[in-house]
Amino acid sequence: MNEIVLASRNPNKIEELRALLSLPDVRILSTTDFPELEEVEEDALTLEGNALKKAHYVAMVTGLPSLADDTGLEVSALNGAPGVYSARYAGEQASYEDNVEKVLSEMSQTNERKAQFRTVVAFVDADKQWIFEGVCTGQISRHRKGAGGFGYDPIFVPDGFDKSFAEMNPTQKNAISHRGLAMKKAVAFLQEWA
Ligand code: IMP
Repeated sequence: MNEIVLASRNPNKIEELRALLSLPDVRILSTTDFPELEEVEEDALTLEGNALKKAHYVAMVTGLPSLADDTGLEVSALNGAPGVYSARYAGEQASYEDNVEKVLSEMSQTNERKAQFRTVVAFVDADKQWIFEGVCTGQISRHRKGAGGFGYDPIFVPDGFDKSFAEMNPTQKNAISHRGLAMKKAVAFLQEWA
C-alpha cells in the first residue's frame, strides 16, 4: 500500500483533507505521525512557494511522498491582501478572530466586497513535483455569520449562496471550496499515480 504524508499539524485541515482524500490504496499519514519533523517557516512570497517548501521538507525527512497545501484569502478591495499572509494578517501571534476583525475593519467603508480563496496543493515524490490549484470566488460579508469552520469562514459567502462557509456543514463546504477543488484535482492525479 502507498503511503502519503500530509504536511500539516492543523487538526481541522487534516480532517478535511482525509475526508477529501479517501483513496482505497493509499494510507494517509500526517506530520503528527513523525515527531522528528520540525515546523516549516512559511516565508515564501507565494502560495506555490510555501506549498512546495513544506512538501519538499516532509518528503526529504520522511522518505515518503508528501502533499502540502497553502491557502490565501484574496480580497479585491485590499489589493489581494491578506493573500499569502492570511494566517498572520493581524500579526505573528494573531488568532483567527484577530484576522477576521482586521479584514472587517479595513473594509468597513467600502461596498466592493469581492474576494476569493485560493489553494495551491503541492505533491512531491522521490522524482518529481506537481502543483494543483483551486479557487472559490465570493463576497466578504459585513458581519460574521455562523459558528462552524475556521479562519475567515464566518465572513466569506461563496458565489451562488447566501450562507457563509461557517454556516455550511463540512460536506457542503468541501464540495465547492478552494481546497476541495484543488484536492479534487490532486486526487484525480493520485488515482493514476498510486
Ligand atoms: P493555510 O495555508 O491553509 O494554513 O491557510 C492560511 C490561513 O488562511 C489560515 O490560517 C486561515 O486563516 C485561512 N484559511 C485557510 N483555509 C481556509 C478556509 O477554508 N476557510 C477560512 N479560512 C481559511
